[in-house]
Amino acid sequence: SRREGFSSIPAVKWEDVGGLDSLRKDFDRHIIQRVKHPEKYEEFGLTLEAGFLLYGPPGCGKTLIAKAVANEAGANFIHIKGPELLNKYVGESELAVRTIFGRARICSPCILFFDEIDALTMRRGKDGDSVVDRLLMQLLIELDGADQRHGVFIIGATNRPEAIDPAILRPGRLGKVMYVPLPSPDERALILKTLARRKPLAPDVDLGLIAQDCENFSGADLSSLVNEAAMVALDEKEGSVDQGSGPSVIKTSHFEQALMKISPS
Ligand code: ATP
Repeated sequence: SRREGFSSIPAVKWEDVGGLDSLRKDFDRHIIQRVKHPEKYEEFGLTLEAGFLLYGPPGCGKTLIAKAVANEAGANFIHIKGPELLNKYVGESELAVRTIFGRARICSPCILFFDEIDALTMRRGKDGDSVVDRLLMQLLIELDGADQRHGVFIIGATNRPEAIDPAILRPGRLGKVMYVPLPSPDERALILKTLARRKPLAPDVDLGLIAQDCENFSGADLSSLVNEAAMVALDEKEGSVDQGSGPSVIKTSHFEQALMKISPS
């Protein structure tokens, strides 16, 4: 991917996202169909939120689904990390916010993704004029300019929704709030299938059964598990008597060994 803060269409596809069905439906209506068929929405005079907040535990697919939405819509994606914006442009972060929104307008249709947005929107303190306060003011101004922001969608993500200033969540700003939970056992199986779909699995591997043993795993933990199983399979092959000339497959036993190493984060 390109440098942070610059736009490009992400390579993440809808098929790379396991589970999260209700989020997919919401994003399909609110962003993808709107970018692809704006006339349908205009005919009915439909107005929908263009700002979203995704919240939930780390590693459960917030960034992943935001990228997949951009890919599916054929929209550009600008990835902003909250803490970096705050630190890199000390004293100039208001200007940075203006510049970022300007850039998003130029490359619309565009999804502007603010990761760890809580860093930018902490509840205002009593003392008033801190850097964060001014930055939040600028962010609110930009979000309120939605009419001039045609084709620009804002998605914020956070693990700490309680730390966010409620002003940012009003209708017309990040007005649609969505929870991204830890996956259920069934969803874990879907995520494992997604993650393993280009991996050489032995025919006996039952990902549904493996998913049952992954209590409290996030999507990111499941990704580590699949990777670890592949690593165990590789090690076993290289260490075998025929020095690795056999077939390259990941077996149930490899997942079992991987499960001893990987636990929920
Ligand atoms: P954070 O709050 O730490 O930024 P996040 O919710 O944005 O976390 P992602 O960065 O989207 O999490 O997920 C990390 C990785 O975990 C993904 O790149 C992917 O490999 C895997 N992953 C997480 N959720 C899913 C999912 N639903 N389907 C497939 N893979 C997933």
